[in-house]
Amino acid sequence: MFVEVALPLPLPRTFTYAVPPELRDAARPGARVLVPFANKEKIGWIDRVASEPQAADRIKPVSAVLDTTPSATPTVLRLSRWIAEYYLAPLGQVLRTALPAGLADSSTDFIILASDPGDEGLTQHEAKLVDFLRGREGPQPVARVRRELGERASWPIIRRLEEQGILRVETEAPREQPPVRTRRMLVIARVLPTLLAREEAFGRARRQREAYEVIEGLGGRVEAAHLTGQLGFTTEIVRQLVKKELLAVEEEEVSRDPYAQIPDGAAPRLKPTEAQAGVIVHLQHASRTATPGTFLLRGVTGSGKTLVYIELLREVVDRQGKTAIVLVPEIALTPQTVGRFKAVFGDRVAVLHSALSDGERYDEWRSLRSGAKRIVVGARSAVFAPMQNVGAIIVDEEHEGSYKQGEAPRYHAREVAVVRAAIEGAVCLLGSATPALESWANAKAGKYTLLELPHRVGGQPLPPIRIVDLRKEREKIKKTTGPLQEPSPVVVSDILAEAVRERIRKQEQTILLLNRRGYATFVQCRECGLVWHCPHCNVSLTYHRKRHRLTCHYCLHEEPAPKHCASCGSAELSFKGVGTEQVERAVEEAFPSARIARMDVDTTGGKWAHHDILGRVERGEVDILLGTQMIAKGLDFPNVTLVGVINADTGINLPDFRATERTFQLLTQVAGRAGRGPKGGDVFIQTALPNHYAIISATEHDFVGFAEKEFDTRRDPAYPPFSRLINVVVSGVDEQLTQEAAVAAADWMSGLLTARKVADVVLVGPAPCPIDRIRTRWRWHFILRSPNAKVLGQVGRYFYEKYRIPANKADLRIALDRDPVALL
Ligand code: ADP
Ligand code: ZN
Ligand code: ZN
Repeated sequence: MFVEVALPLPLPRTFTYAVPPELRDAARPGARVLVPFANKEKIGWIDRVASEPQAADRIKPVSAVLDTTPSATPTVLRLSRWIAEYYLAPLGQVLRTALPAGLADSSTDFIILASDPGDEGLTQHEAKLVDFLRGREGPQPVARVRRELGERASWPIIRRLEEQGILRVETEAPREQPPVRTRRMLVIARVLPTLLAREEAFGRARRQREAYEVIEGLGGRVEAAHLTGQLGFTTEIVRQLVKKELLAVEEEEVSRDPYAQIPDGAAPRLKPTEAQAGVIVHLQHASRTATPGTFLLRGVTGSGKTLVYIELLREVVDRQGKTAIVLVPEIALTPQTVGRFKAVFGDRVAVLHSALSDGERYDEWRSLRSGAKRIVVGARSAVFAPMQNVGAIIVDEEHEGSYKQGEAPRYHAREVAVVRAAIEGAVCLLGSATPALESWANAKAGKYTLLELPHRVGGQPLPPIRIVDLRKEREKIKKTTGPLQEPSPVVVSDILAEAVRERIRKQEQTILLLNRRGYATFVQCRECGLVWHCPHCNVSLTYHRKRHRLTCHYCLHEEPAPKHCASCGSAELSFKGVGTEQVERAVEEAFPSARIARMDVDTTGGKWAHHDILGRVERGEVDILLGTQMIAKGLDFPNVTLVGVINADTGINLPDFRATERTFQLLTQVAGRAGRGPKGGDVFIQTALPNHYAIISATEHDFVGFAEKEFDTRRDPAYPPFSRLINVVVSGVDEQLTQEAAVAAADWMSGLLTARKVADVVLVGPAPCPIDRIRTRWRWHFILRSPNAKVLGQVGRYFYEKYRIPANKADLRIALDRDPVALL
């Protein structure tokens, strides 16, 4: 008996091993095995079992089968094979992505002494192992035992002792209850909501104010050790702040999961509107058929898509006794949506949020696998949940780019969801107010069934959207600026400021969006024009004012903010390009009495920081919530009656074919946060491109019109959905060698296309990537484009299997990205 084993290595093949007789029962497809590989042992998964070896190399035996029941269920294995095939990735890497992290090392294998035989009849090695276990209590992780004993604890020895009943192997060991650990936290005890309050509290105690504001920037709480350690504040400053009762000290349990606390049935049951009921009936019917197919639910913001999801879950889980998968773009950003599922289905829901430890994640995985939990809510990788009898797969905000994984395997969870649903005979429901153009095209072509919720629940109108022309605002400012002064940037225009003031007066809430973080997006010398760049990436460095540092948003490089030009020595530096930190400052100054919360990557470092900020907004403790695209999604706060977009143009000119689509989606989504309650709402979009169709369509809430115009731009040259792409990126640490390698790879590919007379695949490039250096690696790419997915896949596969990039000192790598979401 032989097996083909998929190893998590970047190689396009599986490896053949022999199966010793005693392992034959356990050696099933999907089971984890330990195999010798290049003088080491590696963990892989059995792909196929065969009676003849595929290749005639010297075949080694499998050392151990690590699963009692295969960790990859038949469906997950089938799905993984499809991903490996379609996305041109090694099956072993796909399986490693699909399964809990712990399974890919041997950390989940434990051994324990079952009965002590004394040393009679044991070999020297066996005796050593038994002796080792004698000295310890409880199950021992095999990985640790082997670190200490090496070959004396090899799997054949372990298995032999197991057979004799001397020790027990617990492949999926009972997890010890994680001990409740606590840590000392400093929490803001008195909120200083206004600039005035701040001046009063701190006077000239500058460091105290800095410490306070740093904590604020971190979401209002920080571990004491972090503040006095890495952040460099003295314990004396902390003591003063505590004495002034600005900070409180708390002992915090290290893990506190707000979702765990929401009980079953916590939500009042809503009665679907007529429109919702129509959609729900359709889905219920489909779920009772053998091949329900894929549905695209296009529902405007606030049309009540979540209730549709919930009713579909009631049908398949409660009535039909099946299971279901719900994908959301990012758990932390959608606490309300996740909370609604929990409030209806309680303990039957596993929420796979990013704050789970590997162990906790593994526990959830097991409870899904055993059927103890029947619904999973999670980001991208939840599409691999090990459930059986899946009746529905829901993809909320299906247009979101975060469903695509950025590293191998570069799968798109929406597409995987469609495939899994087809395998399982489940309903696949894709929901969005602004569907991806690919999904929209599929719906128009009849491949997906289109369902629509064209109106908001309760007859609320969509909010009116007004454009503020930034060019005119800039002119206004220039007129008041002296000839030698640099005009200050427009942050909040007068008309938007007036609208904000009115909301503060009426105790309503405002959301301000700017999709760019930091204080200034670049620093430039006024004398010679030098712009500060990252030493490792070809991007400008962003200035962060509170920390007074320049940072790179690609590789996280940091350096102190400059005082002089590195080239000409001039002290005249200008900090350009407004980011959220600058908006926060401008807003604080413009509305000194307002309570402001900022939400972006820099303020959401802690595990539950998003949760905490959004909780404050929900409880009415915040007047103005400002942030990056993080605040554009899913939020449902009826008291938000104003949305302002500080600058709509930040992403529109990126050299990427989806830049316009993304801008339209972002504007529509954020505008949809306004006027969800009875008080109605208004939206202001500040832009220097008031005539751009993405902006105009957004102001008219016109998705269909936008899609038509955007389709026109993608026909010639053909971009998705009119063609399919594979982006081939060659990277290396030497510029010249990287370029040469990219040219050679592209030549090889064109040779292939010519030799095989492949007519409908076009090769574009090679050329430097738009961002041609990231993390010290130079990047070149070429694109394969075809209207024919099948032929494109064949060409891609041939290249993937046959083409090997030369090994040289540039550490060259090649990455194939099929159906890329961005070409940067
Ligand atoms: P979407 O996701 O489509 O933007 P949501 O699902 O967040 O919309 O619903 C918007 C709001 O309408 C939520 O506050 C929700 O509780 C409420 N809602 C949805 N359906 C109903 C209904 N049938 N009756 C009353 N309120 C509803
Ligand atoms: Zn200079
Ligand atoms: Zn960098």
